[in-house]
Formats: sequence, structure tokens, C-alpha cells
Amino acid sequence: MLSEFFDVSINTLLGSPQQLICQCCGMPLDDSTISKELNGTFNEEYCKWCYTDGEYTYDNMDDLIDFCAEHMTNKDYSSEQVRAHMKDILPKLNYWKRYAAIGSEKKFDEFKMQLMAELNALHIEGMPKVEKLNALAGSFINLEYQLPNGKTVKFLDDRVTYLGNQLECEFGGNRCFGIVANMDFLLVCTYEVNGANPELVIYKKR
Ligand SMILES: [Zn+2]
Repeated sequence: MLSEFFDVSINTLLGSPQQLICQCCGMPLDDSTISKELNGTFNEEYCKWCYTDGEYTYDNMDDLIDFCAEHMTNKDYSSEQVRAHMKDILPKLNYWKRYAAIGSEKKFDEFKMQLMAELNALHIEGMPKVEKLNALAGSFINLEYQLPNGKTVKFLDDRVTYLGNQLECEFGGNRCFGIVANMDFLLVCTYEVNGANPELVIYKKR
């Protein structure tokens, strides 16, 4: 690579077509401040303070804001102004955008764990422990239950995505358990192949 040979970034070789900024702290990058990988190649995404020796320096935006408020303050910018500025620009940078996505994924996992704990606490006879919930389209799992008076009823909304699973009955036989849950309720039913002859076991508001 030419850029390695001259120890300059590709961006510089190409005549700096655009000002690179660190995708973690937002500082403008030049060849003296761009981070490097362990093998010496440039990592044009980050400055050398945010990405050092192959590791990211910050895993918390507030730490970075504190650091900047302390070190970037001068006669033109008060620490409050620096803080406000950083709070505005940091969430728009790739590093923190990715971080936010991971954060919400973690929350979603926690939510699924919580639903599974509640489903397992129902102790439904013959139903195996729920260990996985999948996203399911309402239209696929909106079974029609027959009431004693002969009328039928549906509980779900075809347009909504739920979390659920199908589990084989521990007692064998030809009926399966179907579980459906979301923020508002837990539902357990049993049915035969292809959802035939469904019976509601429990519908519980959370
Ligand atoms: Zn940086």
C-alpha cells in the first residue's frame, strides 16, 4: 500500500478530499492524529486517543464529555458550552450510534429473559421450560378459538409482531404448546398440527 509506504493516510494521498473526523470524539483528523492498527496501518475512523493499541478508550459517553469539558475549555468556550456541544455531536458519530444499537439490543434481550421467566413461573403441566422466544408475525399465529357458545374468538392483531415459540408437550401426543407474549400479556395455548383445534390454556395480563 502506498499510504503505508509514505506513512500517510489514504485521505492525504488523495489530497484530503474530505475532512475526516474521529468517529468517537469528533476531532478533525490529520496524519499526526489518526489512529493506527497494531500492524501500523491507519484506522481512519478514529483519533489515536480514542483508539489506542487496538483498543477503544471510551465505553461511556459521559466519561468522554467529562474529559472534554475539563480539557477543551478555554477563554472562548466555557465548560458548559463544551458539554452542550459534545452532547449535540457525539450521538451522531458512528462509534456512539453503534453503541446505542448494542445498548438497545441488550435491553431487548433482558425483556425476552423477563418474559421467559414469567412464562416459566406459570408452571403449566406438560409444558417444557421456555428457553427461546422468536419474533412472530401476528397473522401467522392468530388462531381462532371456539367458545362454549359456539362463537369463535381471536386474541391477536394480524399486523403486530409478537414474541413466541412452539413447544412439544412433555406428555407426547399430537398437541403442541404455543406461547405468545408481548409488553402487555402472556398467552399459552395448545393445538394440533398446523394450528388445528386450538385450545386456550391461559391468557394473562402482565
Ligand atoms: Zn477521538
